[in-house]
Amino acid sequence: MTTEQLLKQETLQSMVEAVSLEFFSKPFKHHATYNRRLQTTGGRYHLGSHDLDFNPKVVEVYGEEELIKVIKHELCHYHLHIEGKGYQHRDRDFKELLKATGGTRFVPPLVEKKKRAPKYLYQCKTCGKAFPRQRKINLWRYGCPCGGRLKLIK
Ligand SMILES: [Zn+2]
Ligand SMILES: [Zn+2]
Repeated sequence: MTTEQLLKQETLQSMVEAVSLEFFSKPFKHHATYNRRLQTTGGRYHLGSHDLDFNPKVVEVYGEEELIKVIKHELCHYHLHIEGKGYQHRDRDFKELLKATGGTRFVPPLVEKKKRAPKYLYQCKTCGKAFPRQRKINLWRYGCPCGGRLKLIK
């Protein structure tokens, strides 16, 4: 499935329903929604409404496979809570069900790594092309593909 398809609300809802039936042999009867306001968490289970929220960044950064693992994790909370069992991370019921269904224990970091600002900036004296670099360039050895020499700007 493409990222675009995965990010559709209907796709998410039907995926959660399918994962629930396949791995938990129980239906998911509530709503699954993408929520952009989730920052670093991959998903959230609402104790009051029984609905699930998912962070679209899981799809954007890691793809379908990781989304399914997060769905399993949230469904563990969901089914255990509804059945009155230990639904919290520290509970044995939760740990065992998570293991049995192959859900993810921790969602990998969702904050994209900031690209480091280049320390040096070179420019070609002939064509003007800029070359941002993390390290110093040996100007005697390296030039622009156009054949021009580079100069250090900062
Ligand atoms: Zn959780
Ligand atoms: Zn050049």
